[in-house]
Amino acid sequence: MNSQTPKKTIAIDMDGVIADVEPQLIKYYKQLYGITTTLSAIQGLTGAEAFPEDASTKNILRQPGFFRTLEVMPGAVAAVKKLMENYEVYIVSAATEFPLSLFEKIEWLQEHFPFISWRNIVMCGDKSIIHTDYLIDDHCKNLDFSRGKAIMFNAHHNLNQHQHLRVYNWDEILELFEKEGC
Ligand SMILES: [Mg+2]
Repeated sequence: MNSQTPKKTIAIDMDGVIADVEPQLIKYYKQLYGITTTLSAIQGLTGAEAFPEDASTKNILRQPGFFRTLEVMPGAVAAVKKLMENYEVYIVSAATEFPLSLFEKIEWLQEHFPFISWRNIVMCGDKSIIHTDYLIDDHCKNLDFSRGKAIMFNAHHNLNQHQHLRVYNWDEILELFEKEGC
């Protein structure tokens, strides 16, 4: 790449993309409501269908520690580092609906992705304002309005949605960008 050419930009979502949120939802659903569910049981269900007792309040997402203690999605750290060699990478999270999550998400990024500058972290509400060349996200509500190329990270709630390029893991994302060849 010519050093004078600006790098193309990638917006990367947090929950369900670099942070493994599904096991955490299952764990907190059990803690808050005493109801046990499993990863296999929620496949193909919306969030409200998978966790019906929490659907109206979204209390799980307001619990202290929920976002701070999420596991990193397998392969995400190395893959994001690799992408940063050739792309300008932004972490973009629609976090303002859950104010406590803002600080927890920043701390989580500092722990697991300390190589990402604060300048490249965007905490927002509506992601349709994001104008990157690529958006990697698990929610069609964000991908449907992406100005750039949309890449859908597989999740229980998007199994029945087929309007975007689907990837199942970070290895597939790296392969995809290798094919992009820039
Ligand atoms: Mg997400």
